[in-house]
Amino acid sequence: MTYTSFLIKYAEIAIKGKNRYVFEDALIKQMRYALKKVEGEFEVSKTQGRVHVECLSDYDYDEVTQALSRVFGITGICPVVHVKDEGFDRLAEDVIRYMEDEYRLKRTDGEQAGSSGEADDKEKLTFKVNCRRARKNYPMDSQEVNMAMGERILDAFSGVKVDVHAPEVLLTIEIRDESIYIYSRIIPGPGGMPVGTGGKAMLLLSGGIDSPVAGYMIAKRGVKLEAVYFHAPPYTSERAKQKVVDLAGLVARYAGPITLHVINFTDIQLEIYEKCPHDELTIIMRRYMMRIAEHIAGESQCLGLITGESLGQVASQTMQSLAATNEVCTMPVYRPLIGFDKNEIIKISEKIDTYETSILPFEDCCTIFVAKHPVTKPNVNIIRRSETKLTETIDELFRKAIETDEVIVVS
Ligand code: ATP
Ligand code: MG
Repeated sequence: MTYTSFLIKYAEIAIKGKNRYVFEDALIKQMRYALKKVEGEFEVSKTQGRVHVECLSDYDYDEVTQALSRVFGITGICPVVHVKDEGFDRLAEDVIRYMEDEYRLKRTDGEQAGSSGEADDKEKLTFKVNCRRARKNYPMDSQEVNMAMGERILDAFSGVKVDVHAPEVLLTIEIRDESIYIYSRIIPGPGGMPVGTGGKAMLLLSGGIDSPVAGYMIAKRGVKLEAVYFHAPPYTSERAKQKVVDLAGLVARYAGPITLHVINFTDIQLEIYEKCPHDELTIIMRRYMMRIAEHIAGESQCLGLITGESLGQVASQTMQSLAATNEVCTMPVYRPLIGFDKNEIIKISEKIDTYETSILPFEDCCTIFVAKHPVTKPNVNIIRRSETKLTETIDELFRKAIETDEVIVVS
């Protein structure tokens, strides 16, 4: 049997009261975006308070379910078989065939359909029929359908049993105006909130493992992303930049299109390198990244910054270092990985498919000018004093860096 549509389940957004439609509309928009990349024609719609994807052409099942499983807000994807209403007997035949195909059950009534093999044919299974009548003039009420259909299924397969409390298969039969829907499987979705319901934030995106994961996590809470990448040509290569563009593209599969700002940071880095103590380079450089990111974020109507920082991971991510980098901006800085171990972060990056790209060995602007023994517990007052050495030149360099902003829309 082929699935004609997918019923979309969503939990968290359903509890938002009067705002519910805002969330559903955002969900639908993101689903349409995700399906645009899949071959085939699909219609995403909301009817009677439920979201469906109708498949209007041939399609690849795995591609569709994979695309939908990247849309935040979805908790489950149910593949649905549609049948015409041609009386209860005909419906029972369709349902039995559905159970046979879907769970490879062996029929006991001699009407074995050709397809099922031997080895993995199921002998035992518990189920419960769950009829929903959207069309109230159907000749039987829901309870009658549940009972009668349960009996037909018991008659058709020997090993099956009814379990009304904890069935392995909850078989839903939904009687609607145009047709009858049959479904039982639920493919898990990513959860979270639909992107676009939670404002916008600026992700500081490097080519590393952490920042793409950080962006993913904040987007999962419904936040739209922009991103900024600081490069230092000729010390960093075109390939390093392309890697960041690629990472933005991988995050965009979940977060929707991302406007990426590429900023030339070379002159600022050289100036810091020349004028400031080398053990403070990383901290001072990070303070300027934050300042520039905040500036661009403000111009792009972002409400916060996102970084991939994790407490204690490296010298620039101790409490003292974070205090020093944090004090230069007033915008909230979201650090969703702050309490994560590296292996926990790697697990997520593998799950969202950014890991393989992140570990490509291209140089990063932070590592090129890095000191052998960076301060791990910087004193903010000392850092501020070091920065006064930049007073004469930095405003101009800051302005120039912002002028280099190369905007790339990654989708
Ligand atoms: P990542 O794996 O995300 O690169 P990291 O462990 O290498 O992180 P740092 O290099 O200290 O850590 O960077 C901390 C955070 O600062 C990054 O997660 C990222 O948000 C931001 N960042 C670092 N370098 C850049 C850069 N070149 N452009 C934009 N943001 C950057
Ligand atoms: Mg890095």
